[in-house]
Amino acid sequence: MNDHRPAESWRLRADIDLDALRSNVRALRERASGHAQLMAVVKADGYGHGMLAAARAAREAGAAWLGTATPDEALALRAAGDTGRVLCWLWTPGGPWRRAIEADVDVSVSGRWALDELVAAARATGRTARVHLKADTGLGRNGCQPADWQDLVSAARAAEADGAVRVTGLWSHFACADEPGHPSIARQQAAFAEALATAARAGLDPEVRHFANSPATLTLPASHYDLVRPGLAVYGLSPSPEIGAPADFGLRPVMTLRAWLASVKRVPGGHGVSYGHRYATPGETTLALVPAGYADGVPRHASGSGPVLVAGKWRTVAGRVAMDQFVVDLGGDSAAVGDEAVLFGPGDDGEPTVEDWARATGTIGYEIVTRIGPRVPRVLL
Ligand code: PLP
Repeated sequence: MNDHRPAESWRLRADIDLDALRSNVRALRERASGHAQLMAVVKADGYGHGMLAAARAAREAGAAWLGTATPDEALALRAAGDTGRVLCWLWTPGGPWRRAIEADVDVSVSGRWALDELVAAARATGRTARVHLKADTGLGRNGCQPADWQDLVSAARAAEADGAVRVTGLWSHFACADEPGHPSIARQQAAFAEALATAARAGLDPEVRHFANSPATLTLPASHYDLVRPGLAVYGLSPSPEIGAPADFGLRPVMTLRAWLASVKRVPGGHGVSYGHRYATPGETTLALVPAGYADGVPRHASGSGPVLVAGKWRTVAGRVAMDQFVVDLGGDSAAVGDEAVLFGPGDDGEPTVEDWARATGTIGYEIVTRIGPRVPRVLL
């Protein structure tokens, strides 16, 4: 009998250790230099952990700000009763600017079309919109190009003067902060300093200047300014092997993904396993069925590589991951139907970690946790 099996029966579940999340937020706040506050990034359903629970726990541990990508995420925080500062940064034309302004959400603007839509919405509501102007200092994704920055800050300053907006933030985002020493880091820092100077000359005086994602929060104190903006580290995960392991920074992984074996059977040698028969048993053996598949977020290309702790040892996914299930070969070991299989967790009990899954499947921890599907219950601990 394992320790974790609840009274009711489970197929697969993600345990969410909110104490660990709170402890991570506190550790990141301590790491933030000087007076810098912390924004916990809770987009993508709290990186798969459950946005509202993650947001509540982050606030309890002192996150002054929450960060979301989409306006819907920001509005969902408000609908759930969050009243603190929230920044939302991924806007498309015709977005719900008015609702964001009425909900007291800070919004990000990277160009004139967005500023113009925001100003029009602010005038329609009769309120002052809070805006963070985003500079592209080298990521080449969202953000205003240096050539257009002067025009954007001047237009924002004019909109401030007539009360439509208040520029509460100036910000940017790193391309390669997870690769310490990458030459783009210093280039982006210099470009950000330049963007801030241009904004200051235009008369902008924001509440917060912010730049640092998780890797920069962990390793680049000069980028902390007034606010750090970690996502992955809040969930106790490391942005890259080059940055280090979570424990190196006092971070504790928040999610443990567990399943309970749905079948255990003896099969002869030469038995094909799962679709396409990409695995055949090398001899008579015991196969165990883990009821978790790609519809739950287990990468299909974990076939032959994904690690899972079953009956005290790491096993590897045998044959293809199917939509709802995959098989492991226990060899000479035995297990019983209903025994626990741990795909990943903090690693404290010998189970694989998210970083192990990322390595085994050629991706990053971000993708492993954000893809855990909606039919996997999140059990808050
Ligand atoms: N800031 C922005 C604009 C982001 O898009 C993200 C996430 O991708 C973050 C901060 C948090 O990044 P990380 O999870 O690496 O800390």
